[in-house]
Amino acid sequence: MINRRQFLASTLATATAASLAAQPAPSWGGKVLDIHHHFRSTPNGNLEHMDGCGVTNAVLLTNISAEEKAKAEVKSNPGRFIRFTSANITKPESFEVLRNSAKGGSKGFGEIKFHVALDGPEMKRLYALAAEVNVPVLIHFQEVEYTPGGGGFNTGFSRLPAILKEFPKTTFIGHADFFWANISAETSVGVAYPAGKIKPGGLTDRMLSDYPNLYGDTSANSGRNAMTRDPDFTAGFLARHKDKLMFGSDCSCRDGRGTGQASTEPALKGKCVARETLAALKHSASPEIFRKITWENGVKLFNPNF
Ligand SMILES: [Zn+2]
Ligand SMILES: [Zn+2]
Repeated sequence: MINRRQFLASTLATATAASLAAQPAPSWGGKVLDIHHHFRSTPNGNLEHMDGCGVTNAVLLTNISAEEKAKAEVKSNPGRFIRFTSANITKPESFEVLRNSAKGGSKGFGEIKFHVALDGPEMKRLYALAAEVNVPVLIHFQEVEYTPGGGGFNTGFSRLPAILKEFPKTTFIGHADFFWANISAETSVGVAYPAGKIKPGGLTDRMLSDYPNLYGDTSANSGRNAMTRDPDFTAGFLARHKDKLMFGSDCSCRDGRGTGQASTEPALKGKCVARETLAALKHSASPEIFRKITWENGVKLFNPNF
């Protein structure tokens, strides 16, 4: 037998869960493009997340193994999706696969997340291919190891300016821990999500100003953290790069309401990254700049048919 207090607590929990699902999705004042939505092959999985958090359109980041399913998703939901493709670039045969994917309607290469140096031979070959077929490359920059020996991804961040210079016809979209940690001039490769005040003059901030071929993707906890850690800094940063930043979520929750959030970061417990980051952007950007970051910049860059 449960006592009255337990009964009330469980009734309340059920009611809260039910009312959460019944709540309308937030409105962000217009269409919202999520440029970092990993393709979900479950029935209605993509739209369930988007509809729950008020995202109208998405870039489906798709591994080549799921390309046919992603194509079908785009086709059966006209005006909602475009797709990017990723393939293991440490295997030479992947370059022909990616070239064909771009010819077949993929609008970008991504997410590119392999244990290589950002200026290694595989990545240089990818940058050249992206310029040749005229699609952007979305890159995960991470120096910190999450597991001992796990290694980083696209390492050597301080050498990115040289690459941006060497490949001026390639469009780069930066994402993940070290890209966002470097909006501050004070960074440590051992800290994935630095907290507190930002020291002006960070490498990412300077590169966004100096290189027309670099864009920023606000997704994941890294983007959310960067947009919230020092609100005094954020407004100026968003205004400075209003034509270069694009909203992305990289969220793992199921329903756009936080259910099943896989991130173990305390700030994201039971929360939807899309909602958190959109709220942060809304807080620190003017309505005009919010529109650019959440819609216009991506539409301009990817030229989708929505
Ligand atoms: Zn990533
Ligand atoms: Zn979510």
